[in-house]
Amino acid sequence: MYNSKMHELGSKRSVIRELFEFGKKRAAEVGADKVYDFSLGNPNVPAPECVREAIAELNAMKDTTLLHGYTSAQGDAGVRKDVAEYINERFGTALTADSIYMTVGAAAALTICLNALTVEGDEFVTVAPYFPEYKVFTEAAGAKFKVAPMRREDFSVDAGALSALINEHTKGIILNSPNNPSGVVYSEACIKEVCAILESKSKEYGHPIYLISDEPYRELVYGGVEVKYLMNYYANTLVCYSYSKSLSLPGERIGYIAVSNRAEDERGIYAAICGAGRALGYVCAPSMMQYVVRKCLRAKPDIEAYRANRDLVYNALTEFGYECVRPDGAFYLFVRAPGGDSDEFCERAKKYGLLIVPGGDFGAPEYARIAYCVSHDMIERSLPAFRELMAEYAERLQG
Ligand code: PLP
Repeated sequence: MYNSKMHELGSKRSVIRELFEFGKKRAAEVGADKVYDFSLGNPNVPAPECVREAIAELNAMKDTTLLHGYTSAQGDAGVRKDVAEYINERFGTALTADSIYMTVGAAAALTICLNALTVEGDEFVTVAPYFPEYKVFTEAAGAKFKVAPMRREDFSVDAGALSALINEHTKGIILNSPNNPSGVVYSEACIKEVCAILESKSKEYGHPIYLISDEPYRELVYGGVEVKYLMNYYANTLVCYSYSKSLSLPGERIGYIAVSNRAEDERGIYAAICGAGRALGYVCAPSMMQYVVRKCLRAKPDIEAYRANRDLVYNALTEFGYECVRPDGAFYLFVRAPGGDSDEFCERAKKYGLLIVPGGDFGAPEYARIAYCVSHDMIERSLPAFRELMAEYAERLQG
């Protein structure tokens, strides 16, 4: 007999998958040009030129045994050293190669951290709205998952609500900024408030409460907004980074964990991370991609393309009367369902060919997520549909 929990996870189609299937069916019925798929967070901006050059250069090597061979379980030592030095140069930290564990994206980074830290009875807290897989990863690691409601005015952290959920069993919290699904970037004041809570609760309960900072969207910010480096605010921080969005490489599965050099017993934590990587089989992240990202540490995605999309969709939808959270980062717009029921809203949207994701699984059931990492042209063509959908609601709500 198989594990029923795993069977359930594997059998239940995600809302996003459902939308994808629906989109294919609808395209066959009405034509692909009348289906506007905003469901997936798959970057539409091509990888920076540096990635193509690095792959070409590596492929030109005569002896490919190194390129395609195993690296150390935690990643190639030279790659880890360069990653650490790049972080130090950018954020003033003092990391070494042995602070870094290369992973298959942020998903594996998170899973490894959660498994490395969890002992029986532990709990992790995150803040709504949140990436739904946090629940899956946390529970699979054997910990209890709790969600603090967000601050409604600006979708940042409600410090009081977060603090109220932390108790003697809390092993850590997971923060994600720039945020999927809201696009919000937490301000320095918000970060300081959260870190002060973690300091005081750690003291109160006599053990460190870890901060897991999930940062796949770190490089995707608009208008000079700064994403603070959380290790510089709180010693017991683990950063989960990914090149999926920053270098448009989601299918290549590459990222890393960085353990703060100021963390309590940081050697112990790093060893536990290596152990969790080993136990989960997450050893030796794809070697070729390790060498590629090493060559592209300073490369940036085409932020202008995402910014132009953000401006187009945000300005148009607010003009049509939608209530939107203004995103400073990532490539998502979180919009309030007129009427407040996002399941119903997303269902109605389908009639107009609009595929958007209801917010229930993100911990915000009144909202829906629009992933604008799509062509500018498709956004332009979709706007009349958004306008008609709003008009339908206006009529219904008035009548
Ligand atoms: N964390 C967040 C907030 C995400 O949005 C995603 C992917 O969309 C991940 C983690 C997983 O990223 P990766 O593709 O690097 O595993």
